[in-house]
Amino acid sequence: MTTGAGVKVRPKRRIRCVVIDLDGTMLVPAGDAVRIPHQMVTALNELGRRGVVWCTNSGRDFEDQAAILRRAVEEGLQAVPDAIMFNEAYVRPLQGRGLPAWRAWNAAARQSLREFQPRVQAALRGKLDRWRSSYQILREVLEEETTAFLVPNEGEMAARFAAELSVVLRSVMEAVVLRNGGWVAVLPSHLGKGQVLATYMRSRLLESDEVLAIGDQLNDISMLNGEVADAVGCPSDAAAEVKSAVLDAGGTVAAQPGYLGTLELLERYCGPGRSSSGQRS
Ligand SMILES: [Mg+2]
Repeated sequence: MTTGAGVKVRPKRRIRCVVIDLDGTMLVPAGDAVRIPHQMVTALNELGRRGVVWCTNSGRDFEDQAAILRRAVEEGLQAVPDAIMFNEAYVRPLQGRGLPAWRAWNAAARQSLREFQPRVQAALRGKLDRWRSSYQILREVLEEETTAFLVPNEGEMAARFAAELSVVLRSVMEAVVLRNGGWVAVLPSHLGKGQVLATYMRSRLLESDEVLAIGDQLNDISMLNGEVADAVGCPSDAAAEVKSAVLDAGGTVAAQPGYLGTLELLERYCGPGRSSSGQRS
């Protein structure tokens, strides 16, 4: 294709893979738990029938995601995800062990987290008592592979806490502070949702214009900033920073919130005859 200015533009390809965050983009509350709503199950099955694969990419751990997906299968989901990306660090199939490239990535990620998190936790140790009261920390996870805190997701509490953590962690190489609602977590900069997605795409020989990524929170920005996937979107009730990142990357902020916004994006980018620009081809 040549534009009027004579500049050659490569035509956008068809989307072959959709990567979706879970909370805020795909799930609805179900009592104390969450589930994938029926309309979403139908849309995923339709993708599957048209040869488009999908994956999850969530901060939830593998077992959590597997339980949600097994329930969806009982409720009619036939198109199970090709891969489950979890903890913002790892990739696995729902069943079996997955590709050798995924296992190698996971082993390296695990090792780097086990070296990284003790350094983070050592840097934070002297501050924790004060933070527990000044930021009303509701939960703290200080484990071998995880440093994360839950603070009230009201006002600017999570943002202020994340900013203070970032300052303290300047002394720790590669430390990045990520937010997801009231959760504030620390990861090394070579991990995160965008990096895991890039690994998955390499292993499946997917180009950036063949992938649609959808998310709603700050920890999704690394897969929504246009650096990994060309086609990106978020629901209308995504975090303001996420909407800006999506628009800056030429993506789409849906008109509807939550999973309804995701359904809208699936129709726009993956409906019959659509290319990854979201236009009819
Ligand atoms: Mg989310």
